[in-house]
Amino acid sequence: MTTEIEDLASLPQLKFIPPRRTPPPQHLADLGAKGAKELCSTHGISGYRVDQVGRHWYSRLSSDFDSYTDLPSQTRSEIAKLLLPTLLNEVRTITCDNGTTAKTLWKLHDGALIESVLMRYRDRSTVCISSQAGCGMACPFCATGQGGLTRNLSVGEIVCQVQRAAADMEHGAMSGGPGKLSNVVFMGMGEPLANYNTILTAIRRMIDPSPNGLGLSARGITVSTVGLVPRIRQLADEGIPVTLAVSLHAPDDELRNELVPVNQRWNLREVLDAAWYYTRQTKRRVSIEYAMIRDINDQEWRGDRLGRLLKGHLAHVNLIPLNPTPGSKWTASRPEDEQKFVEAIERHGVPVTVRDTRGREIDGACGQLAAKES
Ligand code: SAH
Repeated sequence: MTTEIEDLASLPQLKFIPPRRTPPPQHLADLGAKGAKELCSTHGISGYRVDQVGRHWYSRLSSDFDSYTDLPSQTRSEIAKLLLPTLLNEVRTITCDNGTTAKTLWKLHDGALIESVLMRYRDRSTVCISSQAGCGMACPFCATGQGGLTRNLSVGEIVCQVQRAAADMEHGAMSGGPGKLSNVVFMGMGEPLANYNTILTAIRRMIDPSPNGLGLSARGITVSTVGLVPRIRQLADEGIPVTLAVSLHAPDDELRNELVPVNQRWNLREVLDAAWYYTRQTKRRVSIEYAMIRDINDQEWRGDRLGRLLKGHLAHVNLIPLNPTPGSKWTASRPEDEQKFVEAIERHGVPVTVRDTRGREIDGACGQLAAKES
């Protein structure tokens, strides 16, 4: 006689049972105003308290509950803790570039690790955030890709990264004095379009005005993807003018299959067609990300081919000098090769920029800090 367990295990789809994780606590950002008001009512708390808390957290960018003085002092901390549970525990923050770059490693409620990086420039400040703990896309040059996917982040865990960065800017924690957070890029750990509904709600919380959101501009938010074609098309139809970045890294399927393995599912042609659909629907320029890897994808003929593919489309190329990951045999391109590559693209009239390499000395590349910790 077989036991019940054996019967279950014989079903192929149940052979892999993922570890059961308790979901992160529900946060104001997860609940939204309506959900938060419902939760409050089950605790005998009036709905307008949600708006008060929202103004403190999203607009004043304060997590100091003692300063929420319009809440009754006896129940202040109960209300605040109910709506604003701690989701991100700071493990360590490392700064460089004279205090204008700060990278933080966060531990989540279940021990999962993620990173975010705040970068201040003369005319703007950008936070690079994670959408997943780990990543399932397995790009061989990326530190996060090597560890696999741990789990999706919740709306709260994503929005808290942005709120913390906005608070650090507002309260002058970055060198240069108080300022405003202007940009958010989904270029930390994870594939944002593989956590689609969550990042979409998180984006709404970023752009909604006070007291329901951070009031950021949608145009200042960039969603970067390996090229999950159906999701790119879906995002194009949402009517939210966020910037799309596509991690191309090769202008031919043969090499892209290796550098971005999901290309074996949706090839270059399909990815670019989806990108042009995005430009048609949103009228927004797509950013083509291309990590420059010495003698792998940086040949002049590949630059020419890339220029040819993008010519006449609403696109610009963002070259990223490879940030070598520990143990990798790959490194960044030689300056003279990079220059020839840039010129080959420009000959087709396609705009190119080379991204600055902020945070190199603090393991700035995606996933490096978390990989070291674990
Ligand atoms: N999964 C998404 C977003 C996260 S990575 C994506 O792939 O677009 C953000 C960008 O950093 C991507 O273009 C990615 O390919 C690039 N990247 C990852 N590791 C890198 C490294 N070691 N050096 C340079 N760029 C890297």
